Amino acid sequence: MGGAISLLAVNFIIAQVFVVAFLVIAAKSRARRPAIWCAAGFAVASLSAVFETVLPFTPVPKLFAVGAFASVLGGFLLIRFGLGLFYQVPAKPPHLTVFFAACVALDLAIYELPRGTFQHAFFYQMPFCLVQAWTAASVLRSERRSQADRLLFWLLALSAIYYLVKIYAAIAAGSGTTAADYLTSTFALISQALGAMLIVAAGVAMLGVMVKEIIDEARASSELDPLSGLCNRRGFLERAVPLLHDGGDDGPGALILADLDRFKLVNDTYGHHAGDEVIRQFGRVLLDLMPGQAVAGRLGGEEFAVFLPRVSLADARVLAHGMRAALASRGIEGLPETVAVTASFGVAAIAAEELLEMAMRRVDKALYAAKTGGRNRVECADPPMRIVASAGSQRMQS
Ligand code: GH3
Ligand code: MG
Ligand code: MG
Repeated sequence: MGGAISLLAVNFIIAQVFVVAFLVIAAKSRARRPAIWCAAGFAVASLSAVFETVLPFTPVPKLFAVGAFASVLGGFLLIRFGLGLFYQVPAKPPHLTVFFAACVALDLAIYELPRGTFQHAFFYQMPFCLVQAWTAASVLRSERRSQADRLLFWLLALSAIYYLVKIYAAIAAGSGTTAADYLTSTFALISQALGAMLIVAAGVAMLGVMVKEIIDEARASSELDPLSGLCNRRGFLERAVPLLHDGGDDGPGALILADLDRFKLVNDTYGHHAGDEVIRQFGRVLLDLMPGQAVAGRLGGEEFAVFLPRVSLADARVLAHGMRAALASRGIEGLPETVAVTASFGVAAIAAEELLEMAMRRVDKALYAAKTGGRNRVECADPPMRIVASAGSQRMQS
């Protein structure tokens, strides 16, 4: 008996650790509501340890036995609800409530059935098996496919199988003839230990997926420029570099570099707020006009870049002209209607195996040419020296 009770105490403490961990996550992440529901789930499930510990000493064992059952089931259902929110596979509260009420009524009904029989074990364990299978299925149905999500799915599926196996194990090992006897049984000891291991593993996996969410959010916001809504320099490079050599036969693609014209004058004349609005609007122009797979970034100040995978120089040039015209004709809040803000553009086709920074240098020269050529223009960069040299040597040979 001491062994099973010690394990109940350990399970209770572990559950409280999870409650705290989920509450910390709720305070730190956007997944606030899912984490709060998971914390509530662990808190409610941990009550079963209290019910089971008191059970042998109470004159109303039925109440405590059903309480233990209801708290574990209720905890699992709260976790199902929380994970449903997290994975965007929501469970409807009325469905959860009806399922809970039906299972508790069933547990009351089977209370008098002799323990150790198939009927008792089946009706006692089946609700747990079903909830865990339902939760596992919701993880599987979601769009998320990271390793942490897969691990959580398998642990929940294993947990469902565990309750299924428990039906047979309860009969084979003997789980005591009364609810109070249960605590003295070897079955209780093994079942509590195995249950604790599975709860810890699944709980850690749930924390894992939520912590990963916090890390992903932090990374995304560290790579985003809040003013323009585009990537910042770091985000631009992080996204563009891996796409650079994915183009296959179409080549890496093209690069557009843009710089707002006489922007200092806009700030000096109409104020910094109006200047910020120009940056915001130019960000919109780029996002609206660039193709879906393109990456746009504000590299700093009033300089912007767009990487266009698998796009030719001619198409990139047309696109840059469109962006130039869209900005020049855009009304901007805080500026008189008669004032048109413009930008100058450099465009370059990235050569096969060319590094992004080399292409940046060439496109920067083209942008400089657009500035010195009168601004509000698009200029194309020369091809890289290596290509010019090889074209030259071919001409000499022919
Ligand atoms: P050019 O046509 O040659 O590019 O001239 P310019 O005035 O645009 O270039 P310059 O480099 O002289 O000035 C850039 C200005 O951009 C100076 C700076 O105050 C402004 N700027 C940089 N970042 C921001 C920002 O986040 N918000 C606002 N409002 N202004 C910014
Ligand atoms: Mg400028
Ligand atoms: Mg500049």
